[in-house]
Amino acid sequence: MTNKYMYFIANWKMFGGLNTLNKLHKVVNFLNKFKKKKFVKVVYCPPNTLICPMSKKLKNSTIEVGAQNCHENETFGAFTGSVNSKMLKDVGAKYVIIGHSENRDFGETDKLINLKIKNALKSGLKVIFCIGESLKERRKKITKQVLNRQIKIGLNKIKNKNKIIIAYEPVWSIGTGLVPKSNELLEIINFIKRKIKVYKILYGGSVNPKNIKELKSINNINGFLIGGASQDSKKFIDIIKKTYN
Ligand code: PEP
Repeated sequence: MTNKYMYFIANWKMFGGLNTLNKLHKVVNFLNKFKKKKFVKVVYCPPNTLICPMSKKLKNSTIEVGAQNCHENETFGAFTGSVNSKMLKDVGAKYVIIGHSENRDFGETDKLINLKIKNALKSGLKVIFCIGESLKERRKKITKQVLNRQIKIGLNKIKNKNKIIIAYEPVWSIGTGLVPKSNELLEIINFIKRKIKVYKILYGGSVNPKNIKELKSINNINGFLIGGASQDSKKFIDIIKKTYN
């Protein structure tokens, strides 16, 4: 049985409305009764529209709320349609995911990500910093070079490292049902760990109740970033349970 402190970050992406929040009570009840609850940190990252009502709903629970991205400016400004880290903190977010591949695909550069991380930390948010290689980069066998670049530029001149969690998410694994082989994943996690010793490292990409047993046995993984399966409370609870037995 695992007695390891583990993160379970739920990325709801662009899914969910107010009535979706009704499913949270199942997870809250489960955690209240779960024997290993002191080792579990659950963070829900819903769309921005749900951060405030979700934070209120989870006020008396151990679950925290985060956002999925933020604007790079820490101050207010004329940026129509954007939301910055200060505004997210104001409505209850404690964390923010930065550098997700779905946003990198829309033109987020490593430099921009670095600025976002700096300003999110300034606003008092903890950062879940996503890195990962694309299928093309994997085929070219340049995974480590890509991760090296993403880490080097993304974390350039950042001091409060204890407020950052790294999420290794191979892009080819997100939403595809594919996961890296255990030995490959271990090699990459250890590579990242050697580069940036103090950080917690999560794995993300098609985590589900079927593959969690294998994934949880990989040394040095401090938890999981879970997309699709986190929208289904039963699957999400199953993933947490199976991590601990
Ligand atoms: C994600 O969106 O970060 C993710 C890991 O998604 P999924 O679990 O659906 O692959």
